[in-house]
Amino acid sequence: MGPPGAGKGTQAAKLIDHLHVPHISTGDMFRAAVKEGTDLGKKAKEYMDAGKLVPDEVTIGIVKERLMKPDCIKGFILDGFPRTVIQAEALDKSLADMNIKLDRVVNISASDDELVERLAGRRVCKACGQPYHSKYSPPACENTCDKCQGEVYQRADDKEETVKKRLDVYHAQTKPLIDYYSKRGLYVEINGEQHIDKVFLDLCQSLASENP
Ligand SMILES: [Zn+2]
Repeated sequence: MGPPGAGKGTQAAKLIDHLHVPHISTGDMFRAAVKEGTDLGKKAKEYMDAGKLVPDEVTIGIVKERLMKPDCIKGFILDGFPRTVIQAEALDKSLADMNIKLDRVVNISASDDELVERLAGRRVCKACGQPYHSKYSPPACENTCDKCQGEVYQRADDKEETVKKRLDVYHAQTKPLIDYYSKRGLYVEINGEQHIDKVFLDLCQSLASENP
């Protein structure tokens, strides 16, 4: 787990390269189940088409289907799931049925100030999609894409007020999960404000050690 902007996706990608286990994100799983046309996939599609949240029982069923595939025998990385304690409890039950134990629940953390700076600084080219950052990697000419001369702008999602709201929602949602996994001795927090390579080193060390 990790708030938007903490570098969770970057670290997950590095970890997959390192461990050679599948990366299981809820979004990808939904898309795969829908494409394969499984019963749960069809159900999930009905909710998604209607613009509704997919209910827990459907989500958990899809996760379980995914974890039973042979590529998960050596392990897996769950990304974006569970999001609630109810989902976490259901996951525990499913894992117990399959005789699987979670090794770690990792939270890549960063202060809200840092996350706001990272996220609210994001800019993107309207024409070609090239990403920029107002502070760390601005285009050479203000608001003009280096690659295609298109307009570089800020997405509505990245406005400071929206970013702050997203972070508030994230914290409110995640707090009970942190408590849940702390009590089970699985939770570890990693400082996501360090250099990418140091974050990854900490992550690997925490996964290799007996205790979080
Ligand atoms: Zn461009």
